[in-house]
Amino acid sequence: MSTRRRVLILGIDGASWKIIDKVFEWGGMPYLKHLVKSGKVKRGPLHSTMPPMTPPAWTSLATGVNPGKHGVYGFHRIYKREEGFESHLMKSHDVEYPRIHEMVSLLKVPSVAINLPVTYPPWNSVCGNCVVVNDWMAPDIRIKPRELETKFRHYFIEGLEGSILKGTSRGSLKMIARRAHVFAEGVLELLNTVEWNLAFIVFSETDWAMHFNPDFVSGRNINEAFEVYNAIDKFLKEIHGSVDDIILVSDHGFTACDHLVNIPYFLKKSGLAKMGFHETLALRFGKTAIPPWLVNFVRSRPRLKALVYKIINLLGKNVSIEERKRIIPYDMAKVIMPDVGILYAAPGHEEEVLRVLKSIPEIQSILKGSETYWGPYVSGAPDYLLMPENPYCIYSKSDKPYTEENTAHHPIGMFGVLGDHLDEIWWRDLWEPWDLVPLALKLLGLPMPANTDGYYPEGLEKYNYLARWRLAKRAKIRVSRR
Ligand SMILES: [Zn+2]
Repeated sequence: MSTRRRVLILGIDGASWKIIDKVFEWGGMPYLKHLVKSGKVKRGPLHSTMPPMTPPAWTSLATGVNPGKHGVYGFHRIYKREEGFESHLMKSHDVEYPRIHEMVSLLKVPSVAINLPVTYPPWNSVCGNCVVVNDWMAPDIRIKPRELETKFRHYFIEGLEGSILKGTSRGSLKMIARRAHVFAEGVLELLNTVEWNLAFIVFSETDWAMHFNPDFVSGRNINEAFEVYNAIDKFLKEIHGSVDDIILVSDHGFTACDHLVNIPYFLKKSGLAKMGFHETLALRFGKTAIPPWLVNFVRSRPRLKALVYKIINLLGKNVSIEERKRIIPYDMAKVIMPDVGILYAAPGHEEEVLRVLKSIPEIQSILKGSETYWGPYVSGAPDYLLMPENPYCIYSKSDKPYTEENTAHHPIGMFGVLGDHLDEIWWRDLWEPWDLVPLALKLLGLPMPANTDGYYPEGLEKYNYLARWRLAKRAKIRVSRR
């Protein structure tokens, strides 16, 4: 039995202390509230990646580096080819930097990662003694090692329709809350079954429940989203006794917006794109061409979309997630916004795109990807990142310029540490995503990463996880090709 500490990183997607304090006020999360009140939690804000988006933010949290070093800028990986933009869903092997569950595994420390974004397919993880259950934004949910699938997979596929329905109705919120409870049960059961010292668990249900739910996010109304937070509180209470340290962290916060600005509408109006990114993708799904009116009809009706999703899941294929690469010809779009706020311009059209983006009144400033991120993978970064007046009230539809009142990601997320070793750790007034890894390694008693972007005090032992991981990754690829 190992004497090494057990550290849990508990990810709560889209949460902020502001929202959690509101939940406390409403009588929710009694266990965490008690811990906070009795001074057992050290807490502060976290500034997300820019734009505050789930895949780059969680990948920066898990790697300890900015997107220029890990290469994840959104849910999609985009290349500019001669004939057009090539897009495919970001997969685990696209991540160019080890994540903490892989780092510790290099030093023979067993780890578990569950629902950490961009971990599909899980068997591509470069770690011998780790357990990985991939995230929901994938064609399927699978477990490494496969022997665990019979016993555990059902916990993680339950209620996935919630990721499409989001917080649109009381019914969908109930489904999301139920999913959070079942997911938590699966995590507990799994953590009680396998050996581990580091566990990185992400609850996405909070994010789903806050999208399209301005009543809850603005604090006007307690609704079923509240129950999602309670599911996490129950999980925290049950796991607390069997771990030494817990880091509570989110990838971004949430805000209520009077309206969201539909960027693709403006791109279409200017003649730069014939349709929005998602419409162009859906058009080319499979061998059959799906007419755009049908795609839009289904997409604009969450219940119908969830039903379609469910039927296709039953058929054994998740159609809403593109698995293969697609080409969007430049004559269809001179610019694409594959994920909210990030844009790629067709070669030679950069200036024209910039002019149109500058003409959108709610956009305060526009950053260049190559000047915002740093590292060897900056060449794959989006050309432009939008900085809206109201962060981050942007949306991706093309049929009208603005939405009704809605919610959006906010750049300020949360960071907190809970346990008996608060006197051993350093503290930041404003945490950045890459600051998590060095702190978690310190709590585990492991050396600091040699080339991290995260903060740690001078004088600590270092280790080149990146170099070791690259060697292991190369060896793994060689074996799989044999
Ligand atoms: Zn998120």
